Amino acid sequence: MMRRTVRMAVVAEPDDPELARVFALPRPSAPGAAFLEGHGRIDCVCGHCGRVLMRRQRSVHRVPGLLFRCPACGSCNAPTEGPVQQIPDPRTG
Ligand SMILES: [Zn+2]
Repeated sequence: MMRRTVRMAVVAEPDDPELARVFALPRPSAPGAAFLEGHGRIDCVCGHCGRVLMRRQRSVHRVPGLLFRCPACGSCNAPTEGPVQQIPDPRTG
């Protein structure tokens, strides 16, 4: 099965904690620990250092206000719009 890697987008630290929630792994965590582990083909990696943050996802979707802090380099990462599959917007059909 083909695995593919999607680099997440590094974004600025949110100023307002009301607008964005930054998830972080507990410290210490295992070297290979990821935020999510699934059964798909996509590994999402930190856009700065390349560490795997979400493993084996089926698809990747940007969720506004949801960010993930890389345990290796501390960058804030946002899931990028997946090349795999777009969820249709119910407002536009
Ligand atoms: Zn990183």
